[in-house]
Amino acid sequence: MTIHFLNGFTCNARIPRHWKCGTLELLVETEQGLVLVDTGLGTGDYLHDSGILRLFKVVTIVPLDPQEAVVRQVVRLGYRPEDVRHIVLTHMHFDHCGGLPDFPGAKIHVHRREYESFTGRRQRWTDMAYIRRHIAHRPEFCLYQGAGEKWYDFDAIRLPFEPEMWLVPLFGHTYGQCGVAVKLSAGWFFNAADAGAVYNDATPAWAIRLVLGPHDPRLRAFMHAHPEVRMANSHMYPEWFDVATYA
Ligand SMILES: [Zn+2]
Repeated sequence: MTIHFLNGFTCNARIPRHWKCGTLELLVETEQGLVLVDTGLGTGDYLHDSGILRLFKVVTIVPLDPQEAVVRQVVRLGYRPEDVRHIVLTHMHFDHCGGLPDFPGAKIHVHRREYESFTGRRQRWTDMAYIRRHIAHRPEFCLYQGAGEKWYDFDAIRLPFEPEMWLVPLFGHTYGQCGVAVKLSAGWFFNAADAGAVYNDATPAWAIRLVLGPHDPRLRAFMHAHPEVRMANSHMYPEWFDVATYA
């Protein structure tokens, strides 16, 4: 089993200038074929200039390099796009699910609350990052909700893949956002998505809470208590992606 770490959307700060970051996608080899966790931007996002992307271009520095489209990275790794049989979404903001139309045959696995938030009425300011075009091709969805299971001491939902994968609800940044844990040969990899910024000690806690929700302190404590769990958030500094694979 191998996990490839992909950066599907570079988005750098204007101030301070040295803050650079990518957006994490996992390409996991499983017994059910390739499972992609989040998609980054899709090829269509480089053609349609959405309002939220225009806003990002003002607030941040976005190179918008079409080579970052995950479908192109999948091909560069030697796979075909249709080898990606399943896509697990942490949440449905444009920078996490824009690539869905590039994998039209893949089955989409997401928390029911997130799907309902995406397809329902826009209610909160972060909902402006949902773009309905991303599911206009009507993909098949598999929706999940909690049933009392645990991954460590987090409420969690077992996904139907081997190696073991868990959807870990971390609601706050969006109504139904989840992290995703993947079992490694030793220990775990835990993508805590946009629920925290565990490697960022420069941003004040109130700002992290405002944008990312309430989980950051718990995630930091968990990371320090469990060195066998390799953790990341969705937006990581560029050097982090240099570790291109993990087994
Ligand atoms: Zn987000």
